Amino acid sequence: RSSAEKFEFQAEVSRLMDIIINSLYSNKDIFLRELISNASDALDKIRFLSLTDKEVLGEGENTRLEIQIKLDKEKKILSIRDRGIGMTKEDLIKNLGTIAKSGTSAFVEKMQAGGDLSLIGQFGVGFYSVYLVADYVEVISKHNEDIQYVWESKADGAFAISEDTWNEPLGRGTEIRLHLRDEASEYLEEDKLKDLVKKYSEFINFPISLWASKEVESEVPAEEDESNEEEASETPSEEEEVDEEDGEKKAKTKKVKETIYDWEVLNDMKAIWLRSSKEVTDEEYKSFYHSLAKDFSVEKPMAWSHFTAEGDVEFKAILFVPPQAPPDLYESYYNTNKANLKLYVRRVFISDEFDELLPKYLSFLKGLVDSDTLPLNVSREMLQQHSSLKTIKKKLIRKALDMIRRIADEDPDEYYTGDNIAELSDEVLLKRGSYAKFWNEFGKSIKLGIIEDATNRNRLAKLLRFESTKSKGKLTSLDQYISRMKLGQKDIFYITGTSKEQLEKSPFLERLTKKDYEVIFFTDPVDEYLMQYLMDYEDKKFQNVSKEGLKLGKDSKIKELKESFKELTNWWKDVLSNQNVDSVKISNRLDNTPCVVVTSKYGWSANMERIMQAQTL
Ligand code: ADP
Ligand code: MG
Repeated sequence: RSSAEKFEFQAEVSRLMDIIINSLYSNKDIFLRELISNASDALDKIRFLSLTDKEVLGEGENTRLEIQIKLDKEKKILSIRDRGIGMTKEDLIKNLGTIAKSGTSAFVEKMQAGGDLSLIGQFGVGFYSVYLVADYVEVISKHNEDIQYVWESKADGAFAISEDTWNEPLGRGTEIRLHLRDEASEYLEEDKLKDLVKKYSEFINFPISLWASKEVESEVPAEEDESNEEEASETPSEEEEVDEEDGEKKAKTKKVKETIYDWEVLNDMKAIWLRSSKEVTDEEYKSFYHSLAKDFSVEKPMAWSHFTAEGDVEFKAILFVPPQAPPDLYESYYNTNKANLKLYVRRVFISDEFDELLPKYLSFLKGLVDSDTLPLNVSREMLQQHSSLKTIKKKLIRKALDMIRRIADEDPDEYYTGDNIAELSDEVLLKRGSYAKFWNEFGKSIKLGIIEDATNRNRLAKLLRFESTKSKGKLTSLDQYISRMKLGQKDIFYITGTSKEQLEKSPFLERLTKKDYEVIFFTDPVDEYLMQYLMDYEDKKFQNVSKEGLKLGKDSKIKELKESFKELTNWWKDVLSNQNVDSVKISNRLDNTPCVVVTSKYGWSANMERIMQAQTL
C-alpha cells in the first residue's frame, strides 16, 4: 500500500516476537485469552469514560459494549472485534511496537531461562502472543479522536500503519485479524473456539459472541423450489415429502435442512462476587482467581475470602492469597505501590491502580472490590479521595488477616520449616493449605506489616513464625512460645544473628538453655527492624538476650558477688575506658564462657551493627 508508513519494532519487542514465533510451546491457545482480555480492557475504558460523558458511546451499534469473533475458513482468518475505546494512530505506534514496557525484557529473560510462556499476560505483552498462531496480523482501529487506521505486521522486525480506506468503518473500537498459520487451522473450528472462550473467558463482563453456524429445519412450500431464504446460507439438504395424513387442505410443503449463521453468546458474564459464597464452588473460585491474576499455572490460590460488608459503606469483595509470591515482590517493595485489587462500582470496572485499598504490605493479595456506596459519575481522582475508601480499606485488612489466620488454623500439621518443606510435594502442601508454605512465600510481608501497621500489630504478631531453641527444627508461633514459658518467666527471649547454626553456639544462650528457657532465633535482616517495633505480645515484653536487662528470676548471690568482685570490674572498666564500654558488670547470664560483650538496652545489637555496616558499604 502506497500510503503505508513503516516502523521498526523496538529492539526488545523484536526479540520477544522472535521468541514467540520460534516457540515450540504447545499451548498456543493462550493468544485468544490475551486478545479477549485486551478487548475487555478497552471496553472497560470506554464504559468508564461514558460515566462522566455519555456522548463518548455514540449511538446505535456503537453503544453495544461487546466482543465479536468471526471465522473465515477460506481465507484462514480469525478476527476478534470489540467496541472498546480503540486506538489512535499514535496509540497504535506506541502500544503495538515502539515502546517497550518494563515487563518486556523481564519476560524475554524469563523465556530464555525456559520460563512458562502462558505467563505472558502478567508481563504486559500479551498482544504479541498472536504470533504463536498467525504469521500475519492486522489491527484495524478507530478511536473517537482519530480516523480509522490499519496496523499490520508479518513479525519481520517491522510494522506498517496506513489510513484505512478499504475496510468497513468500525464506528469505534478495534478488530484484530489473524492470518493463521497452516498448523493453527484448528482455530477455525467453531467448537474449538467455543471451548476456548468458555475456558478462558467465563469471567469477562461483556458478552462475547461467535458468528456461529446452526443447522435448522424449516418447512417451505413445495412449489417454490429453490427459495431464497433470507439469512440462509446455501447448503440446503434432504428434501422430504410431507405425510399425506397432514390433511389435504394444507398446501404441499417440504422440510429443508439449512445452515444459518447468527451471533451466539458464549459466556454468561457471571459476576461471581455478587453470588452468595455458599453457591460458588471451589472450582469456580479457582478459575476466577486464574483469570483475575492472569496466573494460569496449575496451582490454586492458597486461600480466599468472599464477603459482603454492610453498614455505612456497602461492598462485596473477594480476596485471594496467590499460590506463590511473584519474584520481584520484595525487590520493588519500596519503590512501587502496586495494588492488585480491582475496584468496581456497581459492577462497572473503575481501576486496578488504587493504592488506597490495601496497605503496601498486603499488596501480594489479589482480588476485587465492588461497592454500591461509591459514586459512579465522578472522576478517578475524586473517587480516590472519597472518604468511604478508608472504611473499605480497614475492613479489607481485617478480612485479609482473618483469611491468613485461617490458613494456619486449618493446617493440622502446621509447623514445617523451610528445610523440610522441600520434601513435601506441592500437592500435599496445597491440599493442606500449609501455613509453612504461606510463610515461605509471604512471611516477610507479615513482618513488614508489624513494622508499618501499628493498629493491627498484635493481629500480625499472631501470624509470626520462627524457629527457637525448643522448636526442634520446625516453625513455631508466639502463642506456642507463651504456652511453653516457665513458671515465673516474664519476658519472651530472643536472639538475632545470621543463621540458626551460628546462634546455637552463642555464649548468650548457655545459661538460658541450661535453665531450660526457650529462646527465639531471628535470622532475617528484617527481624532487627521488626523487633524495634514489636515491643510486647500478650503483656509479655521481648528481651534480646544479647542486650542489657536480661533477668532470669531472682539470684540471691548476685549482690554478694558484685561486692566481692568490685575491684576487678572497676579495673576492667578503667582498662576499657577508651573502647566505648559503658560498664563492666557481674552477671548471671553465662555458664561456661567467662565473659561476653553485651549491648546496652537502647543500643544496636551486634547483628544490627553488622546489617548497618553491610548497608553503608
Ligand atoms: P497489556 O494488555 O497488559 O497492556 P498487551 O500486550 O496485551 O499488554 O497490549 C498492549 C497495549 O495495546 C494495551 O495496553 C492497549 O493499550 C493496546 N491494545 C491492545 N489491544 C487493544 C484493543 N483491543 N483495544 C484498544 N487497545 C488495545
Ligand atoms: Mg493484554
